[in-house]
Amino acid sequence: MANIIDGKAVSAQVKEDIRQEVEALKKQGISIGLAVVIVGDDPASQVYVKNKEKACEAVGFESFKYALPAETTEEELLALVDKLNNDDRVDGILVQLPLPKHLDDKIIINNIRPDKDVDAFHPVNVGKIMIGDYSFLPCTPAGVMELIRSTGTDVAGKECVVIGRSNIVGKPQAMLLLHQNGTVTITHSKTKDLKEVCARADILVAAVGRAKMVTADYIKEGAVVIDVGMNRDENGKLCGDVDFEDCKEKAGFITPVPGGVGPMTIAMLMKNTLTAGKEHKLGK
Ligand code: NDP
Repeated sequence: MANIIDGKAVSAQVKEDIRQEVEALKKQGISIGLAVVIVGDDPASQVYVKNKEKACEAVGFESFKYALPAETTEEELLALVDKLNNDDRVDGILVQLPLPKHLDDKIIINNIRPDKDVDAFHPVNVGKIMIGDYSFLPCTPAGVMELIRSTGTDVAGKECVVIGRSNIVGKPQAMLLLHQNGTVTITHSKTKDLKEVCARADILVAAVGRAKMVTADYIKEGAVVIDVGMNRDENGKLCGDVDFEDCKEKAGFITPVPGGVGPMTIAMLMKNTLTAGKEHKLGK
C-alpha cells in the first residue's frame, strides 16, 4: 500500500507558516492585501473565490472582493485592474478564470502589474519562470512541488513524466521539475505509447482532465504519483486523473482527490501574496 500524501496537512502547515509571518508583519504595522475579482456567476468560480477569501482570513490578509456582473465590459474590467494596480493596500490581484466569453483572458492578465500577478500568469512572470529567476511560482505546480518535497523525494536525476502541457499546469510543472534537476518528459494527447512513457517515471504528475485515466499499468512500482485532475466520475463524484484504487498498491506515494493537490493551490496563492507584500512593503 502506497503512502497517501496528505495535501490538507501539508497545506495547513504552509498556511500556518504564512499566518505567523503575517502576524509578525502586523506588529510592524504592515498589512498584506489580496484583491479577488470575479465576473459573472459561474458556480465553480464562486466556490473557488469563497475559498480564497476564507484562506485570506485564516492567514490574516486583508481581502478585497470585487464581484462584477456577467455583462461587464472589457473597458470596465480594465479600469478596475488599473485601479487595483495603483492601490497600495493591494499586494496581489487575482482575476478568477474563466471569464465570460466576451472578455479576453489574455488582455486582462496582461494588464495586471507583474509584481501583483500572484497567479503568475502574466507573460513576464511566465518568462521569469522559464529562466529560473522568479518571485512567484504558478500556484498549482508549486503546490505539487511542495507535495513531492513532503515525501522526502529528491527530484534530482529522477525520471519525471508530466501528462498534460497546458500553460497553467503541465508546462510550468515540467519547468519546476527541471529546475530541481529532474529528467523531464512532457506528454500530451499526441504522445505515442503514453503508458510505456509513464511507466518509466519515478515521479508522475497527471494534469489531463480525464477521470481515472491513469491506471496501475501506467505507473512504475514505488513511483511518486501526483494527481492534479479534478473531474467527476460516472456517479458525479469528484475524482482525479488517476484511478486511485487501482494505483494505490503499486505507487510508493500517491495523492488522493479530493485532499491532495487541490488544497495546495490556495496555500501557494497565499504564499505568492505574502512574497508580493514583502517586496512592496519591505523591499524584499
Ligand atoms: P487542459 O485541458 O488545459 O490540458 C489538458 C492536457 O492534457 C492537454 O495538454 C492535453 O493534450 C492533455 N491530454 C488530454 N487528453 C489526453 C490523453 N488522452 N492523453 C494524454 N494527454 C492528454 O487542462 P488543465 O491543465 O487546465 O487541467 C488539467 C486537470 O487539472 C483538470 O482536471 C483540471 O480541472 C485540473 N486542475 C486542478 C487544479 C487544482 O487546483 N487541483 C488547478 C488547475 C487544473 P493536448 O495539449 O495535446 O490537447
